[in-house]
Amino acid sequence: MFERSEAAFEAARRVMPGGVNSPVRAFKAVGGTPFFADRGEGPWLYDIDGNRYIDYLLSWGPLIWGHAHPEIVEAVVAAARRGTSFGVPTELETKMAEKVVALVPGVEVVRMVNSGTEATMSALRLARAYTGRECIVKFEGGYHGHADSLLVKAGSGVATFGLPNSPGVPHSTAEKTLTLPYNDVDAVRRLFAERGDEIAAVIVEPVAGNMGCVLPVEGFLETLREVTQSHGALLIFDEVMTGFRVALGGAQARFGIRPDLTTLGKVIGAGLPVGAYGGRRDIMALVAPDGPMYQAGTLSGNPLAMAAGLRSLEMLEAAGPALYERMEQFGQRLVRAFTEAGRRRGIPVYGHAIGGMFGLFFHDGPVRGFADASRSDTARYAAFFHAMLREGVSLAPSQLEAGFLSAVHSEREVGQTEEAIVHAMAAL
Ligand SMILES: *Cc1c(COP(=O)(O)O)cnc(C)c1O
Repeated sequence: MFERSEAAFEAARRVMPGGVNSPVRAFKAVGGTPFFADRGEGPWLYDIDGNRYIDYLLSWGPLIWGHAHPEIVEAVVAAARRGTSFGVPTELETKMAEKVVALVPGVEVVRMVNSGTEATMSALRLARAYTGRECIVKFEGGYHGHADSLLVKAGSGVATFGLPNSPGVPHSTAEKTLTLPYNDVDAVRRLFAERGDEIAAVIVEPVAGNMGCVLPVEGFLETLREVTQSHGALLIFDEVMTGFRVALGGAQARFGIRPDLTTLGKVIGAGLPVGAYGGRRDIMALVAPDGPMYQAGTLSGNPLAMAAGLRSLEMLEAAGPALYERMEQFGQRLVRAFTEAGRRRGIPVYGHAIGGMFGLFFHDGPVRGFADASRSDTARYAAFFHAMLREGVSLAPSQLEAGFLSAVHSEREVGQTEEAIVHAMAAL
């Protein structure tokens, strides 16, 4: 079933670390050989052995319009015909910035970059420049890309591989990163009471998506807003995953909390490499060339990426809130299918769905943070993951990752997935 992928993986391993360009693609957490993609179409992904999957990985989040959406492909092709990069401004960049500013409540001014990592790294530098302070606060199991300051108790692949911190990060950098348990309001208040005047910013995933999908408890985000404000620190919502995904305006629109800075990625590029950071006008005024905080990029605001992202955002805007409600209903159906099938078999199961994100845990719940999430049964998840692949469904190859829905997953695919879940659970 995976012969070609096995051969392809062997060849890849000879010339690339682990055979991949991003660690989580190697399927280490679930074992076995990763399947190699041949092509995608809507909610479907085809591998090079000719297997077909209903795709809930969706390139780890960006593909809210599924694979190869005709309108997005057309936008990219039309842009490419006019030239792939210019190194001088284009009007397309302004249109894209206007759209982001119009949609995301906390963003008044925005700078495009090429990845989520670049966005968070730049936002931190900006927060440090603005406040003149050096410490940042992040939460255990939060993943904010692979910049040095942020690889401390990080989620996603770092957690999947059981690496608390990465070698290569200077001690002097790591010690400026203070970590707290997600959703722990008291811990936040205690830390600020002790060290509030050293803290430049709190960076948080407003819905955590890199320790599985974990929702903020009531009062958590509100507390972060209040405490940062009263101590002169900035609040950064890392909406690289949640932006345009849990709601059109991101988690900040959904929960009605305005951060000082926002980082975006994934959905913003519709499958092309785009990230962005933006926020309050007075803070963004420090970014070069308006201000002294330096940050640049040869390919930033790339016309192909802007064309894809802009078309995608226009389509999301046209679809309106109904799209997010529909994705959430589908996500809840998958979670329900999973928990009901698990309970019938006497297996501990738990899950969440919000907007176009969901999380499935082999854990009796509740899952409120990294300590809970990491007590989930990973061996069982691995077995479930492979059983789902055999059923023709592609999930994230680690329990400490979120699942994603797209605008093109229909009743039919979701119904088939519910059946697949029942079969896969029965095979455990
Ligand atoms: C994926 C992710 C990042 C990193 O984005 P890249 O484009 O992979 O560099 C940062 N923050 C969050 C919340 C993410 O989910």
